[in-house]
Parts: sequence; structure tokens; C-alpha cells
Amino acid sequence: MPYNQEFIHALIVDDQKCIRCTHCVKICPTEAIRIVNGSVVIREERCVDCGECVRACPQGAIDIDHDDLSRINEYKNKVILFPSVFWAQFPDRLSEDQVYTALQKIGFTHVYEVEQPIAVLKNVVRKQIKSNQSEYPIISSFCPAIVRLIQIRYPSLTENITRVKAPHDLSAHYILDKLSADGLDPAETGVFYVTPCVAKIAAVKSPVGENRSIITGVISPKDLFNKVMSIVDDIQAEDCRYLRKELTKEGIQWSLTHGETWWQNTRTMAVDGIHNAIKILERIENDEIAGIDFLELRACDRSCAAGVLLPQNRFLTVEKLKRRAKRYPSAEKKSQTEGDERFMHLESKVLTGEINPRPLLRFGSDMEMAMSRMQRARNIMCHLPGIDCAACGAPTCQALAEDMANRKAKMSDCIFIQQLWQKNGKVPAEKAFKRMEKKWGEKRFDPDCTKIGAKNETNR
Ligand code: SF4
Ligand code: SF4
Repeated sequence: MPYNQEFIHALIVDDQKCIRCTHCVKICPTEAIRIVNGSVVIREERCVDCGECVRACPQGAIDIDHDDLSRINEYKNKVILFPSVFWAQFPDRLSEDQVYTALQKIGFTHVYEVEQPIAVLKNVVRKQIKSNQSEYPIISSFCPAIVRLIQIRYPSLTENITRVKAPHDLSAHYILDKLSADGLDPAETGVFYVTPCVAKIAAVKSPVGENRSIITGVISPKDLFNKVMSIVDDIQAEDCRYLRKELTKEGIQWSLTHGETWWQNTRTMAVDGIHNAIKILERIENDEIAGIDFLELRACDRSCAAGVLLPQNRFLTVEKLKRRAKRYPSAEKKSQTEGDERFMHLESKVLTGEINPRPLLRFGSDMEMAMSRMQRARNIMCHLPGIDCAACGAPTCQALAEDMANRKAKMSDCIFIQQLWQKNGKVPAEKAFKRMEKKWGEKRFDPDCTKIGAKNETNR
């Protein structure tokens, strides 16, 4: 049965803040962004929610759609699921117990760190690697942006995605089962996930391989971080070790680069950064890389430590988590001494449904039409300057040519062509300028000394 054919995204562009600098247009790995009539437009069928545009925007004009913290008050049982990278945002002077206690004081009745049942994930992936008959490696499903990327750009690799649920999903099942067993009413329980990135918000809104997520809402780590920091010094920390007794060395580092691969005693590769992931996926699809059994791909450079919603520097987050992990037992050791019984029932819930390819058909699904449009794009390319300046509102000349072939853009969008037409007397200067105003907005041509240029951005 096909699941969730729709991608729901979590990005909102604020037209008032946007200065149409095209940084987002140029950085988007799937060429999903255009400037149209003075506004940024995100083409939903192309966006994989990697968050690169949010990171690149010098104006903070791309906002994320998450839930307000006050939403937890709609529920009697308020569960918070947070990833270890969230804990690592806090200054060293705060203990784990101080942060856990502060979260309880904020109103959460159940505090849970999501990387606790990862031993289950590890076992399932090991079995999949062992039984893989395909020429391609098994690919981790951990990063939702990578899963979406594979669906649209590398559809032939879709069936190699592990289909194991993300730790927060598995934790949500675990905690809901536990609360039910304790007699708490599921209708009165809200499960809120503190997400480090845009992709995980989108995955909660429209999970791949499932019809709906069991997570109630998503909370911004920045808002929650500020809330914790505003009360933490005035509260008495309680002993909360019992709340993280299933946490292990491996769990704490699961969301970092190599978090999934260093468990597997077979040939693995861990790649972070979406542009790096694209290069590797291309080489795998072209049969240029052989013999890899398991591929861990993460959209962010340094994986979840670099989640675009986290307030702390990614390198400091990695260092802090590695330091923390040293204080915890290894999962292998723990399962020998205590057994994994607590989580064993989750094995039946660990897999998502089928993950379907959603190939991005650049020129439409009609083969004959697609061939003719492709030829049209080639012809158009002969006339474009080929310098990929993005002054047309598309990321590259090729993208503009394809938009034109698909009747989504016009030759006059190219400023070089406009200049040529003016020189040849085909278009009066006034008309050419009006077209530019229409694309970029009337005020775009006024002097503005508050602009943030690339040089200034590096100081931010
Ligand atoms: S990067 Fe530039 S064009 Fe894109 S949303 Fe931000 S300000 Fe607007
Ligand atoms: S989230 Fe990623 S894929 Fe989506 S528009 Fe932004 S950069 Fe492009």
C-alpha cells in the first residue's frame, strides 16, 4: 500500500525580511527555489527539507513551522522526547540532573531522551545488511532529508533504504506503551519532540512509509533552551538518573557522524553534508563504488550536531557528547548484564511501511513531450550566458532553460538577453527596467546601506 504520497514541508519565507539576495536559490541542493515576482518560491515537489536555505539566509527570513511550547498544556500527560544533541547545547556548568529537573519544572510530566532504545535499531539493521542480495548497499533511513533526496533523485536506490524508524519514533512507541501499561489514558497524553532540524519536523508532519506520526507536536530547541536557562539557576536539581538508565555510549553518539556505522563489523561508509551525500549517491548509482555493505548518510555537516535549529556550535556539541559518552556503559555490555527485554517488544514496531520512489520528472511524465522539452531546453541553453549568476531568479542557466522549456519562465528573465534586446532595439530600456522591477520588487533598486553582504555575514 503506498503511504503518504504528499510531502509536507516546514519552511515559511517571510517576504518582509527577505532581500532577494539569492543565497538560498544558489545553495539549494535540489534547485527547489526561485525568485518569482519579487518573492521567494519553494517548489514543494523538489524540496527535501535539508535546511541548507535556512542556514544560508543572511536575513533569517526563512522560518520554521513548529509548535508553541504552550501547546503542552492541552494535555494532562506531557511527554517530552529530546535528542542527546539538545542536552549538549547547555553550558558545562549545568549537570544532566539540572537540565532534566528544569524540564520537569517547565511542566513536562515525563522526560525521555530518545536515543535509549537504539540497540533494537542496531540489531534490525545488522540483519538487513546480512540478508541484502542487491548490488547496492543498505542505506540508513535515519536522516529524513536523505530519504526524501533518494526518493526524488535516486529512485532506483529507494528499496535499499533500511526502513527502520528514527529513534524518536521508536521512543514514542516505547513511552506510549509504558504509559498505557501504567493505566494512563492515551487521549490525555501529548508527546512532544524537540527537533534539531527542519527535516525531522517535516518527517513528523508527513512521515515517509507511514500515514501519520504518533508524535503530537514539535518544539523548537531554541525556545526550550531559553526557557530552561531562564529557570535553571533558581531550582534545586533532583536525582533523575532513573530517567536515563537505558542510555548508552552508543545511544549518546547515534546522531553524530559514524553513530550508526561503528557498530557494524562489516564494510561501511559514513558521509555527512548533503552535497557530499549527493556525490556518493551519484557514484553508487553509476556503479562506481562497490563492496560497501552499509551507508550512513546525513544531510548536515557533522550530522545532528549541526541541526539548523540548535543554538550551539556544532563542533562544541560533538566534543561535549563524546565526553559525555565516556561516562556511560556500552550497549553491548549493558545487554549482557541487564538484557534488552525492555525494548524487545519494539522489534515488531521498528520498521516503517514501504518507502516509494517519487522521481522528479524534470520535463513531465509524458515521454514524447519530455523529449521535446529537453530538446527545447538544449536550444535555449545556446542563448544563455552560462555564468549561473542567478539574477534571473533561478539557480543556474540550465535551471532557467528547463523552466522556460516547461513554460515556467521567459527568455526576458535573463538580464543578458534583456541587454542584448535593448542593444538591438528590440526592447526599450524603460520596458526592460519595468520587467526587472516586476521580478525583484520596486524597492530593490533603491540604495540601502543596511544590506548584509557576504563579508559581513562571516562576522555573524
Ligand atoms: S537567502 Fe536571500 S533570497 Fe533567500 S530568503 Fe534569505 S534573504 Fe531571501
Ligand atoms: S530545505 Fe533544502 S531542499 Fe528545501 S528549499 Fe531549502 S535548501 Fe532546498
